[in-house]
Amino acid sequence: MTTTAISAEPVVIELGDDYADIRESVRRICADFPGSYWRNLDEKQGYPSEFVAALTDAGYLGALIPEEYGGSGLPLRAASVILEEIHASGCNAGACHAQMYIMGTLLRHGSEEQKRKYLPDIASGRLRLQAFGVTEPTTGSDTTQIRTRAERVGDTYVINGQKVWTSRALYSDLMLLLARTTPADQVKRKTDGISVFLVDLREARGNGVDIRPIRAMINHNTTEVFIENLVVPAENLIGEEGKGFRYILDGMNAERILCASEAIGDARWFIRTASAYANERVVFGRPIGQNQGIQFPIARAYAETRAAEMMVRKAAARFQAGADCGEDANIAKLLASEAAWHAAEACMQTHGGFGYAAEYDVERKWRECRVMQIAPISSNLILSYIGQHVLGMPRSF
Ligand SMILES: Cc1cc2nc3c(=O)[nH]c(=O)nc-3n(C[C@H](O)[C@H](O)[C@H](O)COP(=O)(O)OP(=O)(O)OC[C@H]3O[C@@H](n4cnc5c(N)ncnc54)[C@H](O)[C@@H]3O)c2cc1C
Repeated sequence: MTTTAISAEPVVIELGDDYADIRESVRRICADFPGSYWRNLDEKQGYPSEFVAALTDAGYLGALIPEEYGGSGLPLRAASVILEEIHASGCNAGACHAQMYIMGTLLRHGSEEQKRKYLPDIASGRLRLQAFGVTEPTTGSDTTQIRTRAERVGDTYVINGQKVWTSRALYSDLMLLLARTTPADQVKRKTDGISVFLVDLREARGNGVDIRPIRAMINHNTTEVFIENLVVPAENLIGEEGKGFRYILDGMNAERILCASEAIGDARWFIRTASAYANERVVFGRPIGQNQGIQFPIARAYAETRAAEMMVRKAAARFQAGADCGEDANIAKLLASEAAWHAAEACMQTHGGFGYAAEYDVERKWRECRVMQIAPISSNLILSYIGQHVLGMPRSF
């Protein structure tokens, strides 16, 4: 009989303990951007220019860009740690995660010429690539039904259509745009005939592109983009014409892992804030945290966060190893967004009426955290992925 040696040193994974140097450095940057900074932006629906500049200067926005193009060439887990710490510090990484995953499509599928032209400037912060135009007024979850149309005319494409919820389009130099190059009724598979374009918004605004802000529940600088006879050079097509849906899909696992990391960061912020308040607030002559009705929801959210965080690490590790990580990335996103929401609810309830006071930041973080169950993919669509692709049940739509 053979025996397998069991290491005397168990692998202990603690919440928020890997990449300690990066975490510490991100926390230091975030300390300069306290709640008042975000509350002020929230009120004005402003863009966090100073915060984005600070992270860019520290090299964090180019974390995933390979060194040969001027970035830091870090693994996905490092990027996920950066975003987690930003959210755990009470800040918001909307502008940062977008740049990290949008850039991935250019990195994986762009030509060498496109990469040399754009990536070094994105890494240095001279160019912002933070807008991704996928969703349309009539098309959300079912991306294949997009109506924005790009037609080849000589060495250009002429694009017409409309996008909605295109976040940061007013603050980004470049936008990745998804459009149909072959009508849906002329393709074999509905995922065929969709292409990705890199649109230079500096030239396009007023020349075929009109961007209007949407007043939303959270400050995400989100917009509607109206596109009328926009002329884009054919050299701005990413990869091959008609294969764009696939390009977008393979960036989605990275996106889910990064968003899940932000949710873990939010959950940590809510749990820390709720526990502190529960210890300090005295009602009926004792700290409210002494009541199980207050203590248990916080404890449960903590347990859920620990479990979700292990899935995030597993998904990131499989992504990095080049293994299929669809199941893990989806589960990580589902569990992390739910853990964060339960932590948000516990934190809100713990604060009683003060949870509604803007200066506590609880209501802002609570609003911000809720969107993770809807965008970039809703929980139902993840459950249908698990039902169909993991458990082999019939497609539900
Ligand atoms: C703050 C914010 C920022 C955003 N930023 C961007 C961005 O930068 N770029 C971009 O392209 N988009 C962006 N979006 C859009 C986002 O990706 C979509 O809202 C999301 O994909 C869902 O699409 P939808 O809103 O059209 O919902 P729909 O597709 O209309 O679905 C509505 C509801 O029905 C459910 N549903 C639909 N079909 C099924 C089914 N078969 N089974 C079960 N349930 C189903 C969905 O899960 C959802 O809960 C953003 C959205 C928000 C709120």
